[in-house]
This record gives sequence, C-alpha cells and structure tokens, in this order.
Amino acid sequence: MLRLEHARMLLEQSGNKHLVKPGANAEMLQALIDGLCDLSQRDALTGLANRRYFASVLDREIDRVARSGESALLLMVDIDFFKRVNDTHGHAAGDTVIKVVAQRLLQCVRPMDTVARYGGEEFAVVLPDCPAFFAGIVTERIRVAVEREPIHVGPGLDISATISIGGAFAPGWIRSSASLWVERADLQLYTAKSQGRNRANLEQTPVSTVSAEEKTLLFGNLGDEFAESFDSESSHLGLAKG
Ligand code: GH3
Ligand code: MG
Ligand code: MG
Repeated sequence: MLRLEHARMLLEQSGNKHLVKPGANAEMLQALIDGLCDLSQRDALTGLANRRYFASVLDREIDRVARSGESALLLMVDIDFFKRVNDTHGHAAGDTVIKVVAQRLLQCVRPMDTVARYGGEEFAVVLPDCPAFFAGIVTERIRVAVEREPIHVGPGLDISATISIGGAFAPGWIRSSASLWVERADLQLYTAKSQGRNRANLEQTPVSTVSAEEKTLLFGNLGDEFAESFDSESSHLGLAKG
C-alpha cells in the first residue's frame, strides 16, 4: 500500500512541489492521484511516455483503426552507433544524448502523437490519423532534427548523433495485434540499419497485406471458407491479400 506521505514525497522528488495544497482534502487526493498516474506513465530519464503507456496507446489505436479504417503510423527509432558514445565519453554523456534526442523527437510531432522511450536508446512514435503523404514528411523531419545540430553535452563537448527509423501503418479495417505492428516497424528499422543507418524506411502503403497471423486473429477457428469470403470482400475494400 502506498502511504499518503510517501506519495507526496514521490511527487516532490519529481518536481511537483506545490501540487498538493494543504487543507483541501478532496482536491488534494485528486491532485495526488493525477500526479501519480502521470508519473506512472513517464520514463524517468527523458520524461517521455514509458513502455507501459506506449502499449496502451498502441492498443487504443489498433481499436480505432479497425473501426474507422483511418491510417495510423508507428515509427521505431534507434540511435546509431550509440555504444561508441558511452565507450568514448561515458554513460552520463550517453544519458544526455538520449535526453536531447527525446526532446528533438517531441518537437517534430503533433500534440495528438505519442513519443515513447521503448528501451535504452530506442524510441517509438505513434501518429494517429496519419496519411501516407504526411508519413514521409514527418519521418524525414525527425531524422533531420537529430542529425542537424551536434548535441551539447558539456564544456567543449559536442556530440553528433544520427538515428535510423522504421515505420509501418496499422492495417485499416483489420483487428491486428500490437506485437505484429511493432514487428513490422522493427523490420523496416532493421532494413534502415543494414542499408547504412541515418535513414528512414517506411512500409510502402497504409493498405498493408493481411498476414496469416492476422487472418487467425480475425477468424480464429471459423475455417478457410469464411476467410476466403473475407478475401473477396477485402479486395472490394482495397485491401491486399497476404
Ligand atoms: P546500432 O547503430 O546498430 O544501433 O548500434 P548501437 O551501438 O546503438 O547498438 P545498440 O543498440 O546495441 O547499443 C545500445 C547501447 O545503449 C548499449 C547500452 O549499453 C546502451 N544503453 C542502454 N540504455 C542506456 C541508458 O539509459 N543510458 C546510457 N548512457 N546508455 C544506455
Ligand atoms: Mg542503437
Ligand atoms: Mg538499440
């Protein structure tokens, strides 16, 4: 159980000093709860959405895209040759690079988008309602924003960083899964890395193919006959078959 005083201390340590007003009980508790919820969704180093919150955003988007058919884009972003930064300049310098890259990513997206720290020096960006023509623009904007200016880490120390980006669209009208979506974007990221880094690779079109796994998610044990009738229906909707 989390005691009130401990909760207040956690909030104060995270910079929310005057959030809880003395004497206002209901208000105080609400502020406490809101503050703690916010904390529980953020990554401590960068202040970005954390992995848990990112997972809930992905699930929400998959639901929305399955119902509306709107396209949503997921970008997986990884800093290039980051180990060298740690090895050459130390872990603290590496932390600063991660923080600054996080800020630059945030500056490139809309308020409705979510930028999350996915792991060590890896980030994820979820862009709801993102048409294909905008996807290329925003992805390039993100890549250039990191590359453009060296990162000031300390007196006399500026570090140049680049990122590689992989992007994939959630398949409209299809109830897919978060892990398949991440896998698709990761595949594009892997390609960007293997093609030389400091580049972005996007899945060609928001109208993704329906993989065998997605067919299983959609139809379960209903059988091939039902899946076949969906295939002819999906071509009517403009969906490619897997
Ligand atoms: P690549 O271009 O293939 O991505 O090369 P890379 O050197 O970036 O390779 P990799 O992704 O494997 O390296 C990640 C490194 O990030 C390894 C790990 O020590 C470091 N790292 C992970 N989390 C943190 C962190 O919070 N702070 C710092 N400073 N380093 C971290
Ligand atoms: Mg890396
Ligand atoms: Mg990595």
